[in-house]
Amino acid sequence: MLLLCLAVLCLTASSPCDAAPPWKSGLQPVFTGSARNKLLLISFDGFRWDYDQDVETPYLDKMAQDGVKAVYVTPPFLTITSPSHFTMLTGRNVENHGVIHNIWFNTITQEKKQYYMTQFVDSYWNNGSLPIWITAQRQGLKAGSLHFPGTAATYKGETVGVRQVEPRFYDHSNETDWKLNINKVIGEWFHQKDQDFVSLYFGEPDLTGHKYGPDSPKRREMVQQVDRTVGYIRDKIQDYGLTDKLNIIITADHGMSTVLQDGLVEKIILSKIPGFSFKDIQFQLLDYGPVGMLLPKEGMLEKVYEALKGSHPHLHVYKKEEMPARLHYSNHPRILPIILIADPGYIVNGFLPVHYTKGEHGFDNEVMDMKAFFRVVGPDFRKNKIVDPLDLVDVYPLMCHLLGINPEINDGHLDNTKHMLVPKNNTGGDINKKYNGMEALIGFSAVIGFLVLLFIITTSYNMCKRTRE
Ligand SMILES: [Zn+2]
Repeated sequence: MLLLCLAVLCLTASSPCDAAPPWKSGLQPVFTGSARNKLLLISFDGFRWDYDQDVETPYLDKMAQDGVKAVYVTPPFLTITSPSHFTMLTGRNVENHGVIHNIWFNTITQEKKQYYMTQFVDSYWNNGSLPIWITAQRQGLKAGSLHFPGTAATYKGETVGVRQVEPRFYDHSNETDWKLNINKVIGEWFHQKDQDFVSLYFGEPDLTGHKYGPDSPKRREMVQQVDRTVGYIRDKIQDYGLTDKLNIIITADHGMSTVLQDGLVEKIILSKIPGFSFKDIQFQLLDYGPVGMLLPKEGMLEKVYEALKGSHPHLHVYKKEEMPARLHYSNHPRILPIILIADPGYIVNGFLPVHYTKGEHGFDNEVMDMKAFFRVVGPDFRKNKIVDPLDLVDVYPLMCHLLGINPEINDGHLDNTKHMLVPKNNTGGDINKKYNGMEALIGFSAVIGFLVLLFIITTSYNMCKRTRE
């Protein structure tokens, strides 16, 4: 009997740890099990935070009424497509996830792969940080991705379960194609295949912003195309009866800034800088917008640095270890020893000005033109609410929370977005009550077990005492 009681005590004492839900230490997820809502993450590349302010956007306005709008979202630095999208998917700053540029490069062979071909270099993406698709799949959810940067890669032997990678020379601006892609994601993936999470990417208004400039009529037209598309997405969700089961996050990877044109400014051209020579450079990543990187030949770092530092009033020159900590763009072996950052309006050229775009991004993420838009709507979000700016790293913990999955280590904070959520006293509360109830039962069992044990010991002692007497 004594042994039995001790066994009961041991069992009840060890149970609370086993019974505790995995999210016990933090905020509990809004839904679990079959009650979990689905999530659609949409990125409209290069949609600057204020693009809805000089053109009519009825569908985006309606979405803001029905959901939450942040004043803006601050992307990570470097403010370009692949690094920023991988931050969305991992919640890590660029120096922590390692997708440091749109271009894959090898400093020894001098090989460079442009944005599209870099999508297929697994080792570039599979670099220690798991995108949310893989984490969700490992925790029993179904994930899909259409055209999102990083979709083509394999991560620790796994790919996103359902995917569509864009063809080699894809027309990223075709509204008819956008509709077909939306039909696929909503009708096929969410409705028929019952996916839990899908990321969906559109290459505009980035392309139009580059080509015509962020203040051009063409850009305003493209924002109207985006706006119509947001309306189309919400209509499709309604048609398939998913409005009350699907949360939507719409954001972008960066903004866009007007490039100052010839004749108005003194361009930054490295070959014209006195004391600087390409003979001292082993590898360069230049002519790619406002940021350049250099690997000087052995023993040449100081010479190159001294020649460039202070050479142009709108060029900032850093040794890797001198980079401002707030940019989180230093602590990764892929980042080259010298980093050049131009002020807004300028770009970093090597031999000649080869960039003739009217808009650019890649600048310091504190530049207002680099901020992106952020909207959410769905059953877990509040309605008609405008919230303060957030960082793009904060989107990942929000998504994990909405999906009820345990996040990987990340640089974001759920505290920065939880005010967007509807307070949960129903489903979430029930889960809490269930566990509180279980813990109460376990505690009660432990007390009963202890009293029984005490009774046995006392009775045995009295019996022994009487026997001796
Ligand atoms: Zn982009």
